[in-house]
Amino acid sequence: MRKAYIAGNWKMNLTPSEGARYAAELAAAVKEAGVDCRVMIAPAFVAIPAVVEAVKGSPIIVAAQNMANHTSGAYTGEVAPAMLKDAGVKTVILGHSERRQYYGETDEIINSKVILALSEGMDVVLCVGETLDERQGGRLEEVLSRQIKVGLKDVSAEDMARITIAYEPVWAIGTGMTATPEDADGAHSFIRATVASLYSDDIAKNLIIQYGGSVKAGNIKALMAKENVDGALVGGASLSLEQFLPIITYNK
Ligand code: PEP
Repeated sequence: MRKAYIAGNWKMNLTPSEGARYAAELAAAVKEAGVDCRVMIAPAFVAIPAVVEAVKGSPIIVAAQNMANHTSGAYTGEVAPAMLKDAGVKTVILGHSERRQYYGETDEIINSKVILALSEGMDVVLCVGETLDERQGGRLEEVLSRQIKVGLKDVSAEDMARITIAYEPVWAIGTGMTATPEDADGAHSFIRATVASLYSDDIAKNLIIQYGGSVKAGNIKALMAKENVDGALVGGASLSLEQFLPIITYNK
């Protein structure tokens, strides 16, 4: 049985004090509402210590939105896995389409980060997804297959227990356009089949696959009702309690 896993990617929003205030409210609301899915929030690097402190004692997972592909050294502006762990973070989002699109992260770079994160004992949310051009050009499966095969290169079967995949069609991120629940389920089913061919049916069956792309209170139920949708990676609607709480309580 796959446990639902809903994550909020705050991107470059919320200062440390704003983030800590909201995270404390969220922790109280999660307790009060008896939220039974796994909930993760990913603040900006500088807000991580304050947010970790604010959710202390709550089941909320605090993650990073990115990480360096080196352990230490002369990499100006980068943040190493050991720094994240020291700040209380054990989970990292890697390969987000904004990292691919604006910062030139290739599948190979993302793979080197995945391998490093796992070797440092961290959990990974690996983002994959096609652009509108790729989808309209009939290349959905080719793109997902490449992103998964290269992104997971040299990841052991054992370490797959620490990988979550987030399917985020680029054309649905921050645009208000959501893939239909059927579109999402179809892509997730293809991702699961790809993982089964790379590893085993058992590993694919246990893999958590989140959907991301304009997820909101109004569409979460229909998405989560699909067989292959195990959670969500939420951007804009994760930035306030008013919008995020109805998403993480979709089954209440
Ligand atoms: C995201 O940032 O991963 C995302 C899906 O954003 P939004 O929910 O705003 O579309």
